[in-house]
Amino acid sequence: MLPDQTILRIPGPTPIPPSVQQAMSQPMIGHRNQETKDLLQTIKPNLKPVFGTEQDVLILAGSGTAGLEAAVVNTVQPGDEVLIIVTGAFGDRFAQICSEYQITSHRYDVAWGEAVSPEAIKAYLAKHPEIKAVFATYCETSTGVLNPIPELAKVIHQQTDVLFIVDGVSCVGGVQTKMDTWGIDILVTGSQKAMMLPPGLTFAAVSERAWHVINKNERPSFYLDFKRYHDQSANNSTPFTPALSLLFGLKQALAMMEEEGLDHVYKRHQTMKDMARAAFRALNIPLLTTDEAASPTVTAVKPDDFDPEALRKVLKDDFGLSIAGGQKHLKGNIFRIGHMGYCSPADLLQTITIIEIALHKVGKMVELGKGTKAAQETLLKGGN
Ligand SMILES: *Cc1c(COP(=O)(O)O)cnc(C)c1O
Repeated sequence: MLPDQTILRIPGPTPIPPSVQQAMSQPMIGHRNQETKDLLQTIKPNLKPVFGTEQDVLILAGSGTAGLEAAVVNTVQPGDEVLIIVTGAFGDRFAQICSEYQITSHRYDVAWGEAVSPEAIKAYLAKHPEIKAVFATYCETSTGVLNPIPELAKVIHQQTDVLFIVDGVSCVGGVQTKMDTWGIDILVTGSQKAMMLPPGLTFAAVSERAWHVINKNERPSFYLDFKRYHDQSANNSTPFTPALSLLFGLKQALAMMEEEGLDHVYKRHQTMKDMARAAFRALNIPLLTTDEAASPTVTAVKPDDFDPEALRKVLKDDFGLSIAGGQKHLKGNIFRIGHMGYCSPADLLQTITIIEIALHKVGKMVELGKGTKAAQETLLKGGN
């Protein structure tokens, strides 16, 4: 192993493209100068297709959780009733935020590793007409599940006028997202997952319906007040000093996505999902989720005859390769491979090949190359 070589295959933060890294080293500019307005003016239209919206995407300096908290605090008030779909650790985070703000929360828990059923949510809402907003996680990073957001949006809007608020932090930019067409009212993401940037920015797009609610809401927040960001966005500005270096990087990351073509970006992620799943299947190591529920951005593996933590240690110590472990009750039971953002099928082949060697080192004697071969065949078939 080279002392300075690190291979980052966790579901965020993710690797940064060299051109983005370089863009971020530009000299500082004045945040009220014309250069900043020009920068925001270039960024604005390029963010919209990533979210699938005609709305301005608001950019806040803060981690993804700041965006989640902003979505809560701008739309609901103490005493309001909301439904939180919890399919893992990040659904649970929405529940914790709501609890902190004394919002009356209904929790709909789904077994970790499974996706939520839209029909079940439809039935739940029919029984609870007092619910004003539904919170869901698009990609549940802790389990590698991609929840059926378009179908959820459909059943939710069919019968009620509740707001549908979605945490898309670990997949927007890597998975097709049509906020306006599907009917998402607030869509949040962060910079350090599929957006190919370091941590530090959170993004939120807000529907017309949600603005009606927000405009009437007494917001108990100053920094997280969406209206401030919205008003300033109209003149290509921000209410507070923006994280300018990250915006330099964002401009370049969006240019890269445009050059590759968003359709190809999504296809690349889908291919990496298929490759990862084919590899572990060929090695006879169980996956946590079904093919239908699996996210294109992160794959969770649930071994039954070796310790995932021992594997992670060998990967890190011998090869500089970081993969993630499990969270909460899945700690010690699963490992997760992030394959989003600046990650290619070639990168994933490297990861799978290294994992095969590391499996031997932890005493799991797989046939070397078998997982790699399955991934290669998947890649050849996908024509990517
Ligand atoms: C990473 C992530 C977040 C945000 O976490 P921060 O550490 O606050 O950036 C939120 N939701 C999901 C689904 C995530 O994967």
